[in-house]
Amino acid sequence: MSDETPLGFETRMIHAGAAPDPATGARQTPIYQTSSFVFKDAAHAARLFSLQEVGYIYSRLTNPTVAVLQERIASLEGGVGAVAAASGHAAQIMALFPLMGPGKNIVAADKLYGGTVNQFGQAIKRFGWSVKFVDMDDTDAVRAAVDDDTRAIWCESLANPGGIVTDVEAVSAVAKDAGVPLIVDNTMATAALWRPIEHGADIVCSSTTKFMSGNGTAIGGIVVDSGKFDWMASDKFPSLSQPAPEYNGLNFGEALGPMAYTFHSIAIGLRDLGGCQQPQNAFYTLLGLETLALRMERHSQNALKIAEYLEGHSAVDWVSYPGLKSSQYHERARKYLPNGAGAVFTVGLKGGYDAGVKLVDSLKLFSHLANIGDSRSLVIHSASTTHSQLTDEAKTLAGAGPEVVRLSIGLETADDLIADLDQALSAR
Ligand SMILES: *Cc1c(COP(=O)(O)O)cnc(C)c1O
Repeated sequence: MSDETPLGFETRMIHAGAAPDPATGARQTPIYQTSSFVFKDAAHAARLFSLQEVGYIYSRLTNPTVAVLQERIASLEGGVGAVAAASGHAAQIMALFPLMGPGKNIVAADKLYGGTVNQFGQAIKRFGWSVKFVDMDDTDAVRAAVDDDTRAIWCESLANPGGIVTDVEAVSAVAKDAGVPLIVDNTMATAALWRPIEHGADIVCSSTTKFMSGNGTAIGGIVVDSGKFDWMASDKFPSLSQPAPEYNGLNFGEALGPMAYTFHSIAIGLRDLGGCQQPQNAFYTLLGLETLALRMERHSQNALKIAEYLEGHSAVDWVSYPGLKSSQYHERARKYLPNGAGAVFTVGLKGGYDAGVKLVDSLKLFSHLANIGDSRSLVIHSASTTHSQLTDEAKTLAGAGPEVVRLSIGLETADDLIADLDQALSAR
């Protein structure tokens, strides 16, 4: 295939990174369920270990099934390389690992997936890292939060639990002025609806557990590097710009150029943290990716229909979905998400906490569980589950007040989902 004509998104969804198996001709990517790979000879082994040749050593570092997934998602996001991890949360630590050190901080959005709030707010303190949560809509506040020890700015493109669209271009401008990378969690939109690298993100970090695998089968995460950030431009990123003592003094930035971050994440991140993705999970996610754009389009169409229905229902106080004209993020959604505003949104019920509980207990087609991005429609009442440990005030700040129900709209017939909501909202 010629290099001049870039292949379309849908073609890359199915083909990027993959070729018929050279050993057997297998057309679908095989699951290489093996821990290790035999070296051709001692010289080959030495070349692999010194990164002079790229190849397979041990599946904690690299694995052919996982490699196809990495290449495919890098291609879909428009990056130069990607590293897969055991989960979205493992990917987040992997994404930060080459950048951070004791005493360093990140500036992160105050509206994030709840698990990320825990990870950034608490767990990373044990590494000597810290976070400053700020409102990403207030770019002056973001700018003010950045200090000499800041090593990244972190936000979600389409932010969990729903309805928030981040102005990635505005945040990217702040990151560029500050000389630090912008990392965008693109889990909720996926590359099918929004490619943050095209809007100035330096690194994209996503959970593949959700829409990419698409049917609730496999946990996984991915870190994609745009290859555009200049690690050598300052002394802020010594792991990438200075000789690495943990890799025989290799200078990743000098030796690997735009692939420095990706190679560091494999050669040191996966080697030392060990949060690799299993080939079986990579296989499931590859199957999901083959239909990603089709699914995201239908998820978004269904979500818009259902959001419009709910907005008109007398038991509903408000609906926060950026696909709706009533959303304060509608204009931004039109700019960044022209092909659909995704599947996940929140609804405020007039009946408060009791109405939320009643709704989740009365729905039949919707599954009550803590996940998003399944082909099945999902629902959760955050105040009584994921956010139950927070005070009422903190719940409201997190978008999980007592009246709030989060929906992840699946691929079922929209009218069936509306009928289910209709009976559940009138249940007594
Ligand atoms: C689920 C999720 C994560 C964490 O991913 P896991 O695969 O569950 O570890 C991170 N960010 C967002 C936006 C998510 O929805």
